[in-house]
Amino acid sequence: MVTELVCIVCGRSYPPGDLQTCGVCGPQGILDVRHDYDAITPILTLEALGRRSPDHWRYRELLPIDPGATLPPLRVGWTPIYDAPRLAQNVGVRRLFLKDEGRNPTSSFKDRASSVGVLKAREFGYDTIACASTGNAASSLAGLAASIGMSSVIFVPQRAPEAKIAQLLVFGATVFRVAGTYEQAFELCRAACGHFGWYNRNSGTNPYLVEGKKTAGLEIAEQFAAGGPLGGELPDWVVVSVGDGCTIGGIGKGLHEFKRLKLVRTLPRLLGVQAEGASPIVWAFEAKTDLVPSGAETIADSIAVGTPRNWRRALAWVRASRGAMIAVPDPEILEAMRLTARLGGVFGEPAGVAGVAGLRRAVLQGLVPPDSSVLAVITGNGLKDIRSATEAAGRPHDIQPDLQQVEAALRS
Ligand SMILES: *Cc1c(COP(=O)(O)O)cnc(C)c1O
Repeated sequence: MVTELVCIVCGRSYPPGDLQTCGVCGPQGILDVRHDYDAITPILTLEALGRRSPDHWRYRELLPIDPGATLPPLRVGWTPIYDAPRLAQNVGVRRLFLKDEGRNPTSSFKDRASSVGVLKAREFGYDTIACASTGNAASSLAGLAASIGMSSVIFVPQRAPEAKIAQLLVFGATVFRVAGTYEQAFELCRAACGHFGWYNRNSGTNPYLVEGKKTAGLEIAEQFAAGGPLGGELPDWVVVSVGDGCTIGGIGKGLHEFKRLKLVRTLPRLLGVQAEGASPIVWAFEAKTDLVPSGAETIADSIAVGTPRNWRRALAWVRASRGAMIAVPDPEILEAMRLTARLGGVFGEPAGVAGVAGLRRAVLQGLVPPDSSVLAVITGNGLKDIRSATEAAGRPHDIQPDLQQVEAALRS
Protein backbone atom coordinates (compact mmCIF):
# COMPACT_ATOMS: atom_id res chain seq x y z
CA MET A 1 0.00 0.00 0.00
CA VAL A 2 2.55 2.54 -1.20
CA THR A 3 1.29 6.11 -1.31
CA GLU A 4 4.33 8.10 -2.50
CA LEU A 5 8.12 8.37 -2.68
CA VAL A 6 9.57 11.28 -0.69
CA CYS A 7 13.08 12.74 -1.11
CA ILE A 8 14.87 12.59 2.25
CA VAL A 9 16.82 15.76 1.42
CA CYS A 10 14.26 18.22 -0.01
CA GLY A 11 10.96 16.52 0.83
CA ARG A 12 9.61 16.49 -2.75
CA SER A 13 6.99 13.83 -3.37
CA TYR A 14 6.88 11.49 -6.39
CA PRO A 15 4.25 8.95 -7.43
CA PRO A 16 5.54 5.39 -6.93
CA GLY A 17 7.19 4.31 -10.18
CA ASP A 18 10.44 3.34 -11.85
CA LEU A 19 12.60 5.98 -10.13
CA GLN A 20 15.97 5.76 -8.45
CA THR A 21 16.71 9.15 -6.83
CA CYS A 22 15.19 12.65 -6.63
CA GLY A 23 15.23 14.48 -9.95
CA VAL A 24 16.24 17.74 -8.27
CA CYS A 25 18.73 16.58 -5.60
CA GLY A 26 20.42 13.96 -7.81
CA PRO A 27 22.20 10.92 -6.32
CA GLN A 28 22.08 12.50 -2.83
CA GLY A 29 18.30 12.61 -2.98
CA ILE A 30 17.46 9.14 -1.67
CA LEU A 31 13.73 8.46 -1.95
CA ASP A 32 11.80 7.03 0.98
CA VAL A 33 8.78 4.81 0.27
CA ARG A 34 5.68 5.90 2.22
CA HIS A 35 2.74 3.69 3.14
CA ASP A 36 -0.85 4.19 4.26
CA TYR A 37 -0.37 3.10 7.87
CA ASP A 38 -3.93 3.95 8.88
CA ALA A 39 -5.20 1.42 6.36
CA ILE A 40 -2.61 -1.20 7.34
CA THR A 41 -2.95 -0.99 11.15
CA PRO A 42 -6.26 -2.91 11.40
CA ILE A 43 -4.96 -5.63 9.06
CA LEU A 44 -1.53 -6.36 10.53
CA THR A 45 -2.33 -7.44 14.06
CA LEU A 46 -0.15 -9.87 16.04
CA GLU A 47 -2.90 -12.49 15.71
CA ALA A 48 -3.10 -12.08 11.93
CA LEU A 49 0.68 -12.20 11.63
CA GLY A 50 0.77 -15.33 13.78
CA ARG A 51 -1.21 -17.17 11.08
CA ARG A 52 1.12 -16.19 8.22
CA SER A 53 3.97 -18.07 6.55
CA PRO A 54 7.40 -17.92 8.22
CA ASP A 55 9.10 -15.66 5.68
CA HIS A 56 9.35 -11.94 5.10
CA TRP A 57 6.33 -11.75 2.77
CA ARG A 58 4.24 -11.93 5.98
CA TYR A 59 4.64 -8.12 5.93
CA ARG A 60 3.42 -7.77 2.34
CA GLU A 61 1.11 -4.84 3.10
CA LEU A 62 4.24 -2.93 4.13
CA LEU A 63 6.21 -3.94 1.04
CA PRO A 64 6.20 -2.16 -2.34
CA ILE A 65 4.86 -5.16 -4.25
CA ASP A 66 1.68 -5.87 -6.18
CA PRO A 67 -0.82 -7.76 -4.02
CA GLY A 68 -1.19 -10.30 -6.83
CA ALA A 69 2.51 -10.67 -7.68
CA THR A 70 3.91 -14.20 -7.98
CA LEU A 71 6.53 -14.37 -5.24
CA PRO A 72 10.00 -15.91 -5.69
CA PRO A 73 10.01 -19.53 -4.52
CA LEU A 74 13.02 -19.16 -2.18
CA ARG A 75 12.31 -18.71 1.51
CA VAL A 76 13.62 -15.30 2.62
CA GLY A 77 13.59 -13.98 6.17
CA TRP A 78 12.04 -15.14 9.46
CA THR A 79 15.56 -16.08 10.49
CA PRO A 80 16.12 -17.50 13.96
CA ILE A 81 17.10 -15.50 17.04
CA TYR A 82 19.31 -17.34 19.51
CA ASP A 83 20.04 -16.59 23.15
CA ALA A 84 23.85 -16.58 23.58
CA PRO A 85 24.57 -16.43 27.34
CA ARG A 86 28.27 -17.34 27.16
CA LEU A 87 28.93 -14.75 24.49
CA ALA A 88 26.94 -12.21 26.53
CA GLN A 89 29.21 -12.84 29.49
CA ASN A 90 32.35 -12.49 27.40
CA VAL A 91 31.16 -9.28 25.76
CA GLY A 92 30.00 -7.91 29.11
CA VAL A 93 26.23 -7.48 28.74
CA ARG A 94 23.33 -8.98 30.71
CA ARG A 95 21.80 -10.72 27.72
CA LEU A 96 22.86 -11.15 24.10
CA PHE A 97 20.77 -12.50 21.24
CA LEU A 98 22.06 -13.37 17.78
CA LYS A 99 19.81 -13.09 14.72
CA ASP A 100 21.36 -15.39 12.14
CA GLU A 101 20.88 -13.82 8.73
CA GLY A 102 23.29 -16.34 7.26
CA ARG A 103 20.26 -18.65 7.15
CA ASN A 104 18.76 -16.80 4.17
CA PRO A 105 18.77 -18.61 0.79
CA THR A 106 22.10 -17.22 -0.44
CA SER A 107 23.46 -16.92 3.11
CA SER A 108 23.22 -13.19 3.78
CA PHE A 109 20.90 -10.40 4.81
CA LYS A 110 20.91 -9.10 1.22
CA ASP A 111 18.27 -11.64 0.16
CA ARG A 112 15.68 -9.43 1.85
CA ALA A 113 16.48 -6.64 -0.60
CA SER A 114 17.10 -8.74 -3.72
CA SER A 115 13.79 -10.56 -3.37
CA VAL A 116 11.99 -7.21 -3.60
CA GLY A 117 14.38 -5.98 -6.32
CA VAL A 118 13.64 -8.79 -8.76
CA LEU A 119 9.88 -8.30 -8.30
CA LYS A 120 10.20 -4.56 -9.03
CA ALA A 121 12.32 -5.29 -12.12
CA ARG A 122 9.68 -7.69 -13.42
CA GLU A 123 6.83 -5.31 -12.59
CA PHE A 124 8.59 -2.49 -14.50
CA GLY A 125 9.06 -4.76 -17.53
CA TYR A 126 12.82 -5.45 -17.41
CA ASP A 127 14.27 -8.84 -18.32
CA THR A 128 17.76 -8.12 -16.93
CA ILE A 129 18.75 -6.79 -13.52
CA ALA A 130 22.22 -5.52 -12.61
CA CYS A 131 24.16 -4.48 -9.55
CA ALA A 132 27.57 -3.51 -8.30
CA SER A 133 28.51 -5.17 -5.08
CA THR A 134 31.33 -6.14 -2.78
CA GLY A 135 29.85 -9.63 -2.94
CA ASN A 136 26.69 -10.43 -1.03
CA ALA A 137 24.26 -8.14 -2.86
CA ALA A 138 25.58 -9.70 -6.04
CA SER A 139 25.34 -13.36 -5.02
CA SER A 140 21.93 -12.67 -3.58
CA LEU A 141 20.71 -10.96 -6.73
CA ALA A 142 22.09 -13.77 -8.89
CA GLY A 143 20.27 -16.36 -6.78
CA LEU A 144 16.95 -14.55 -6.59
CA ALA A 145 17.04 -13.70 -10.32
CA ALA A 146 17.76 -17.35 -11.16
CA SER A 147 14.81 -18.40 -9.01
CA ILE A 148 12.36 -16.45 -11.17
CA GLY A 149 14.09 -16.94 -14.54
CA MET A 150 15.53 -13.43 -14.90
CA SER A 151 19.03 -12.58 -16.23
CA SER A 152 21.53 -10.86 -13.93
CA VAL A 153 24.67 -8.83 -14.64
CA ILE A 154 27.11 -8.21 -11.81
CA PHE A 155 30.00 -5.79 -11.37
CA VAL A 156 32.36 -6.78 -8.56
CA PRO A 157 35.49 -5.00 -7.37
CA GLN A 158 38.84 -6.76 -7.33
CA ARG A 159 38.69 -7.53 -3.62
CA ALA A 160 35.52 -9.69 -3.64
CA PRO A 161 36.25 -13.09 -2.00
CA GLU A 162 36.41 -16.14 -4.30
CA ALA A 163 33.50 -17.92 -2.62
CA LYS A 164 31.15 -15.05 -3.42
CA ILE A 165 32.29 -14.97 -7.04
CA ALA A 166 31.77 -18.72 -7.30
CA GLN A 167 28.23 -18.19 -6.02
CA LEU A 168 27.55 -15.67 -8.80
CA LEU A 169 28.85 -17.88 -11.54
CA VAL A 170 27.01 -20.96 -10.38
CA PHE A 171 23.71 -19.03 -10.45
CA GLY A 172 24.44 -18.10 -14.08
CA ALA A 173 25.10 -14.37 -13.67
CA THR A 174 27.23 -12.48 -16.18
CA VAL A 175 30.11 -11.32 -14.00
CA PHE A 176 32.43 -8.38 -14.62
CA ARG A 177 35.34 -8.20 -12.20
CA VAL A 178 36.36 -4.54 -12.34
CA ALA A 179 40.02 -3.64 -11.80
CA GLY A 180 39.19 -0.91 -9.31
CA THR A 181 37.33 -0.06 -6.13
CA TYR A 182 33.71 -0.69 -5.19
CA GLU A 183 33.00 2.98 -5.97
CA GLN A 184 34.30 2.54 -9.52
CA ALA A 185 32.30 -0.64 -10.00
CA PHE A 186 29.21 1.21 -8.71
CA GLU A 187 29.60 4.05 -11.25
CA LEU A 188 30.25 1.61 -14.09
CA CYS A 189 27.11 -0.33 -13.22
CA ARG A 190 25.02 2.82 -13.21
CA ALA A 191 26.34 3.81 -16.62
CA ALA A 192 25.78 0.31 -18.03
CA CYS A 193 22.17 0.21 -16.78
CA GLY A 194 21.45 3.46 -18.59
CA HIS A 195 23.19 2.29 -21.73
CA PHE A 196 21.80 -1.25 -22.00
CA GLY A 197 18.39 -0.72 -20.38
CA TRP A 198 18.91 -2.96 -17.35
CA TYR A 199 17.21 -2.50 -13.98
CA ASN A 200 19.63 -1.15 -11.36
CA ARG A 201 19.53 -3.03 -8.06
CA ASN A 202 22.12 -0.79 -6.39
CA SER A 203 20.81 -0.74 -2.87
CA GLY A 204 22.59 2.47 -2.04
CA THR A 205 20.10 4.38 -4.16
CA ASN A 206 17.18 2.15 -5.18
CA PRO A 207 14.21 3.20 -3.01
CA TYR A 208 12.48 -0.19 -2.99
CA LEU A 209 15.35 -2.32 -1.72
CA VAL A 210 15.46 -0.72 1.71
CA GLU A 211 11.83 -1.81 2.08
CA GLY A 212 13.04 -5.40 1.82
CA LYS A 213 15.75 -4.73 4.37
CA LYS A 214 13.31 -3.23 6.84
CA THR A 215 11.62 -6.62 7.24
CA ALA A 216 14.50 -7.57 9.57
CA GLY A 217 13.41 -4.74 11.86
CA LEU A 218 9.77 -5.82 11.65
CA GLU A 219 10.80 -9.37 12.43
CA ILE A 220 12.94 -8.47 15.43
CA ALA A 221 10.02 -6.55 16.87
CA GLU A 222 7.50 -9.29 16.13
CA GLN A 223 9.70 -12.16 17.31
CA PHE A 224 10.13 -10.47 20.70
CA ALA A 225 6.64 -8.97 20.97
CA ALA A 226 5.03 -12.34 20.34
CA GLY A 227 6.53 -13.56 23.64
CA GLY A 228 7.51 -17.22 23.74
CA PRO A 229 11.10 -18.09 24.60
CA LEU A 230 12.25 -14.55 23.86
CA GLY A 231 10.17 -13.25 26.73
CA GLY A 232 7.93 -10.60 25.21
CA GLU A 233 10.31 -7.72 25.82
CA LEU A 234 12.37 -6.07 23.10
CA PRO A 235 16.14 -5.81 23.67
CA ASP A 236 17.56 -2.46 24.80
CA TRP A 237 19.94 -2.31 21.84
CA VAL A 238 20.11 -3.69 18.31
CA VAL A 239 23.63 -3.85 16.84
CA VAL A 240 24.18 -3.75 13.07
CA SER A 241 27.30 -3.52 10.89
CA VAL A 242 27.28 -0.59 8.47
CA GLY A 243 28.66 -0.15 4.95
CA ASP A 244 26.37 1.88 2.67
CA GLY A 245 23.99 2.38 5.59
CA CYS A 246 20.91 0.74 4.04
CA THR A 247 20.81 -2.20 6.42
CA ILE A 248 20.75 -0.17 9.61
CA GLY A 249 18.46 2.41 7.97
CA GLY A 250 16.10 -0.36 6.92
CA ILE A 251 16.11 -2.02 10.33
CA GLY A 252 15.45 1.35 11.98
CA LYS A 253 12.50 1.94 9.69
CA GLY A 254 11.10 -1.56 10.23
CA LEU A 255 11.28 -1.27 14.02
CA HIS A 256 9.63 2.12 13.86
CA GLU A 257 6.82 0.82 11.63
CA PHE A 258 6.05 -1.93 14.11
CA LYS A 259 5.51 0.74 16.73
CA ARG A 260 3.52 2.81 14.29
CA LEU A 261 1.17 -0.17 13.90
CA LYS A 262 0.77 -0.02 17.70
CA LEU A 263 2.20 -3.52 18.17
CA VAL A 264 4.97 -2.43 20.56
CA ARG A 265 5.33 0.60 22.81
CA THR A 266 9.09 1.11 23.12
CA LEU A 267 11.92 0.55 20.68
CA PRO A 268 15.55 -0.55 20.99
CA ARG A 269 18.42 1.87 20.47
CA LEU A 270 20.58 1.26 17.41
CA LEU A 271 24.34 0.74 17.56
CA GLY A 272 25.95 1.02 14.12
CA VAL A 273 29.39 -0.51 13.66
CA GLN A 274 31.92 0.20 10.92
CA ALA A 275 35.44 -1.12 10.36
CA GLU A 276 38.06 1.44 11.34
CA GLY A 277 39.56 1.46 7.83
CA ALA A 278 36.18 2.39 6.30
CA SER A 279 34.30 4.46 8.85
CA PRO A 280 33.07 7.68 7.23
CA ILE A 281 29.59 7.35 8.77
CA VAL A 282 31.10 7.09 12.26
CA TRP A 283 33.07 10.29 11.57
CA ALA A 284 29.98 12.10 10.33
CA PHE A 285 28.06 10.93 13.39
CA GLU A 286 30.72 12.14 15.81
CA ALA A 287 31.47 15.41 14.01
CA LYS A 288 27.75 16.10 13.37
CA THR A 289 28.63 17.07 9.80
CA ASP A 290 27.87 15.87 6.31
CA LEU A 291 29.71 12.80 5.13
CA VAL A 292 33.29 13.07 3.90
CA PRO A 293 34.34 10.06 1.78
CA SER A 294 37.09 7.92 3.32
CA GLY A 295 39.39 5.07 2.42
CA ALA A 296 37.96 1.55 2.39
CA GLU A 297 40.60 -0.73 3.88
CA THR A 298 39.29 -3.66 5.91
CA ILE A 299 39.06 -7.44 5.77
CA ALA A 300 35.31 -7.03 6.22
CA ASP A 301 34.74 -6.72 2.47
CA SER A 302 30.96 -6.39 2.79
CA ILE A 303 31.32 -3.11 4.69
CA ALA A 304 34.40 -1.80 2.84
CA VAL A 305 32.57 1.29 1.57
CA GLY A 306 34.41 4.63 1.42
CA THR A 307 31.54 6.55 -0.21
CA PRO A 308 28.33 5.32 1.40
CA ARG A 309 25.15 6.33 -0.45
CA ASN A 310 22.64 5.99 2.32
CA TRP A 311 24.44 7.64 5.24
CA ARG A 312 21.72 10.27 5.80
CA ARG A 313 19.05 7.68 6.38
CA ALA A 314 21.38 5.57 8.52
CA LEU A 315 22.23 8.52 10.78
CA ALA A 316 18.63 9.71 10.93
CA TRP A 317 17.49 6.35 12.35
CA VAL A 318 20.47 5.98 14.68
CA ARG A 319 19.79 9.45 16.10
CA ALA A 320 16.03 8.95 16.29
CA SER A 321 16.68 5.85 18.42
CA ARG A 322 19.12 7.76 20.70
CA GLY A 323 21.71 5.28 19.46
CA ALA A 324 25.39 5.47 18.62
CA MET A 325 28.03 4.65 16.01
CA ILE A 326 31.40 3.04 16.68
CA ALA A 327 34.42 1.86 14.65
CA VAL A 328 36.44 -1.33 15.28
CA PRO A 329 39.86 -2.41 14.00
CA ASP A 330 40.21 -5.58 11.91
CA PRO A 331 41.91 -7.70 14.62
CA GLU A 332 38.86 -7.20 16.84
CA ILE A 333 36.61 -8.29 13.97
CA LEU A 334 38.63 -11.50 13.59
CA GLU A 335 38.42 -12.05 17.32
CA ALA A 336 34.64 -11.56 17.18
CA MET A 337 34.53 -14.17 14.42
CA ARG A 338 36.13 -16.72 16.78
CA LEU A 339 34.05 -15.70 19.79
CA THR A 340 30.69 -15.64 18.03
CA ALA A 341 31.36 -19.12 16.65
CA ARG A 342 32.85 -20.63 19.81
CA LEU A 343 30.60 -19.02 22.41
CA GLY A 344 27.45 -18.52 20.34
CA GLY A 345 27.59 -21.32 17.78
CA VAL A 346 27.07 -18.95 14.84
CA PHE A 347 29.70 -18.68 12.09
CA GLY A 348 29.60 -15.21 10.53
CA GLU A 349 31.75 -13.58 7.88
CA PRO A 350 33.83 -10.58 9.04
CA ALA A 351 31.10 -8.00 8.29
CA GLY A 352 28.61 -10.42 9.81
CA VAL A 353 30.30 -10.34 13.22
CA ALA A 354 31.61 -6.76 13.16
CA GLY A 355 28.56 -5.83 15.25
CA VAL A 356 29.68 -8.15 18.04
CA ALA A 357 33.15 -6.57 17.95
CA GLY A 358 31.59 -3.11 18.09
CA LEU A 359 29.35 -4.08 20.98
CA ARG A 360 32.38 -5.24 22.97
CA ARG A 361 34.07 -1.90 22.42
CA ALA A 362 30.92 0.04 23.17
CA VAL A 363 30.60 -1.74 26.53
CA LEU A 364 34.25 -1.00 27.38
CA GLN A 365 33.74 2.66 26.49
CA GLY A 366 30.59 2.92 28.56
CA LEU A 367 28.35 3.58 25.55
CA VAL A 368 26.28 0.46 26.21
CA PRO A 369 25.65 -0.23 29.93
CA PRO A 370 26.53 -3.74 31.16
CA ASP A 371 22.99 -4.42 32.37
CA SER A 372 21.64 -4.11 28.80
CA SER A 373 19.99 -6.79 26.73
CA VAL A 374 21.25 -6.66 23.16
CA LEU A 375 20.47 -8.25 19.82
CA ALA A 376 23.31 -8.49 17.29
CA VAL A 377 22.35 -9.03 13.67
CA ILE A 378 24.83 -11.53 12.17
CA THR A 379 24.47 -10.30 8.61
CA GLY A 380 26.29 -12.97 6.59
CA ASN A 381 27.57 -16.55 6.78
CA GLY A 382 31.24 -17.27 7.48
CA LEU A 383 31.65 -19.80 4.68
CA LYS A 384 31.54 -16.89 2.24
CA ASP A 385 35.05 -15.83 3.24
CA ILE A 386 37.23 -18.81 4.08
CA ARG A 387 40.44 -16.84 3.96
CA SER A 388 39.37 -14.60 6.84
CA ALA A 389 38.02 -17.59 8.75
CA THR A 390 41.38 -19.30 8.43
CA GLU A 391 43.10 -16.14 9.56
CA ALA A 392 40.82 -15.98 12.59
CA ALA A 393 40.96 -19.63 13.54
CA GLY A 394 44.33 -21.02 12.44
CA ARG A 395 45.17 -24.38 10.89
CA PRO A 396 44.53 -28.01 11.80
CA HIS A 397 47.17 -30.33 13.32
CA ASP A 398 48.75 -32.22 10.41
CA ILE A 399 49.52 -35.75 11.57
CA GLN A 400 50.04 -39.32 10.39
CA PRO A 401 47.27 -41.85 11.19
CA ASP A 402 48.99 -42.59 14.50
CA LEU A 403 47.61 -42.33 18.04
CA GLN A 404 50.92 -41.13 19.46
CA GLN A 405 50.84 -38.18 17.13
CA VAL A 406 47.36 -37.33 18.43
CA GLU A 407 48.72 -37.42 21.98
CA ALA A 408 51.74 -35.35 21.05
CA ALA A 409 49.58 -32.75 19.29
CA LEU A 410 47.21 -32.51 22.28
CA ARG A 411 50.19 -31.89 24.61
CA SER A 412 51.80 -29.23 22.43
C1 LIG B 1 25.86 -5.36 2.86
C2 LIG B 1 26.28 -5.93 4.14
C3 LIG B 1 26.34 -5.17 5.31
C4 LIG B 1 26.07 -3.68 5.39
O1 LIG B 1 24.91 -3.24 4.76
P1 LIG B 1 24.84 -1.73 4.21
O2 LIG B 1 23.48 -1.58 3.73
O3 LIG B 1 25.87 -1.64 3.12
O4 LIG B 1 25.19 -0.85 5.35
C5 LIG B 1 26.72 -5.81 6.48
N1 LIG B 1 27.03 -7.12 6.50
C6 LIG B 1 26.96 -7.89 5.39
C7 LIG B 1 27.31 -9.33 5.51
C8 LIG B 1 26.59 -7.33 4.19
O5 LIG B 1 26.57 -8.10 3.09
